Amino acid sequence: MDRFVFLDRDGVINRLDYGNYVLSWPEFKFLDGVIEAIAELSGAGYKIIIITNQSPIGRGLLTEEALTVIHNNMLFEIEQGGGIVEEVFHCPHAPEDKCKCRKPETGMFDQVNEKYDVDYTKSWFVGDFESDRQVAERVGLNFVLAKGNGGLKKAVEEILSK
Ligand SMILES: [Mg+2]
Ligand SMILES: [Zn+2]
Repeated sequence: MDRFVFLDRDGVINRLDYGNYVLSWPEFKFLDGVIEAIAELSGAGYKIIIITNQSPIGRGLLTEEALTVIHNNMLFEIEQGGGIVEEVFHCPHAPEDKCKCRKPETGMFDQVNEKYDVDYTKSWFVGDFESDRQVAERVGLNFVLAKGNGGLKKAVEEILSK
């Protein structure tokens, strides 16, 4: 079993004003300290997975291909900084689709469990929203809130102090 840190994307890794969407790479803005914080987690032996709701796909505003471009660029920048992300899982559905994967539903963790052996009691979820906390509680992960510039850096300090 491995120790993981699951990261929400919007509001934790990149800046996102409420109600807005990132629809292209130029619109993707890393929050301060994020690249360093992810590198620190990797250096400490945590495996990292990003878990993100991407309703603009379900709303017809973004294609899977365009999201892949955004994520490939994001992962390249993270790797340049020394961080390693195992995988990005996304829910492509709109809220009205009533799917099983849109947080706070836990379906993305069913996908995770098919591929990874997670030690849930020693793993963490970092999110900026109450729905992230709910997911963490439902699947049995420790939770820490991160918001805005420097938020992930503080969250990682807390994780590494435990
Ligand atoms: Mg978020
Ligand atoms: Zn979904």
